[in-house]
Amino acid sequence: MKMRITKHGEDVLKKIAKSVDYDEIRDDLPALLKNMWETMYGVKGVGLAAPQVDISIRLAIIDVKPEGKSDKIVMINPEIVNREGSVTEEEGCLSVPGLYAKVKRHKRVTVRALDAKGALFERTGTGLLARAFEHEVDHLDGKLFLNHLSLVERLRVSTILKDIKKNWD
Ligand code: ZN
Repeated sequence: MKMRITKHGEDVLKKIAKSVDYDEIRDDLPALLKNMWETMYGVKGVGLAAPQVDISIRLAIIDVKPEGKSDKIVMINPEIVNREGSVTEEEGCLSVPGLYAKVKRHKRVTVRALDAKGALFERTGTGLLARAFEHEVDHLDGKLFLNHLSLVERLRVSTILKDIKKNWD
């Protein structure tokens, strides 16, 4: 089942999401994840955090599809444990549809989280995956990529935002 994606301006996207007690969500997790994957793939996204489907818990999914091959990552209570280098690339977000801006992020990012089965894992990503790690963890901390823009960039996009917001559901 596809879920509605929350949009910039909605409170759930500004909140610090609640830590997950794995045992508490274990039974509901498979269905929730199924819906989140369907929602994300349905709009050709590469990442989706629970607050983007109006659930304020520390859970996010990522699939940046290196070489077109699916690489599904489920992160529960993710923590960024290492970040190195910096790179500026164009970035967008399913909660800010139609808007793209250059955002400076780390080049190499290591995340520690629980997977869908509740097992602890660590994964290091570069390029788009590193960017996705930081972007999704930001969502769990109530931040959007817009928070990383320079003042000048922020002023530029605020006009565009007002305009494109009219077309959001
Ligand atoms: Zn996003």
